[in-house]
Amino acid sequence: MKHSYIIVHHTGAEEKDAERVRRYHLSLGWRDVGYNFVVERDGRVVNGRSLDIPGAHCLAAGMNHRSIGVALIGNLDNHPPTRPQVETLPSLLWSLAHRFGIPTEHVLGHREVPGAATACPGRFVDMTALRRALGGRAKAPQPDAPVSGGRRDAPVLPEIPAPLLWRVQAGAFQSREAAERQARRLRDLGIDALVVAPEDI
Ligand SMILES: [Zn+2]
Repeated sequence: MKHSYIIVHHTGAEEKDAERVRRYHLSLGWRDVGYNFVVERDGRVVNGRSLDIPGAHCLAAGMNHRSIGVALIGNLDNHPPTRPQVETLPSLLWSLAHRFGIPTEHVLGHREVPGAATACPGRFVDMTALRRALGGRAKAPQPDAPVSGGRRDAPVLPEIPAPLLWRVQAGAFQSREAAERQARRLRDLGIDALVVAPEDI
């Protein structure tokens, strides 16, 4: 598989850690967590699904077959990413872009992918600012560049507030399973859907 894009997500829920995200995706019958990397609240980057198989994070524009999926844990429509996440994300993206020769303009928020009807990765993630932070530095392929969240020379995501967004609701449910069923029905119709957790979970 050729990875020519990086798609940034939030998990849309308030999982404790990447293992919870993985277990949840396994419970949907998926072969592994849908994302290739998950950034936990403390900034730890956890490897998800192997890059050798198609992802399960962005159906739109065939991105599961040509992109790397990176997810921040949390519902970033409700609150900003944590400070460690804000510091880690650009480093991780920069490392991946550098390693796979992915240009900065191919680092997209899920909502920016043509055909994706979603607010993901949430209104608190400003993709324009993120790309600006990555700058033009992620151009040349560097197969040996390490993939890690700890690079010292990588830029830091500036905190620029995103605009308030009008959102489309297609149901409200008392169980996550019922909400996921509804989301699957919508996806089956070609409508991208995002399950948003109650704020107090
Ligand atoms: Zn997403």
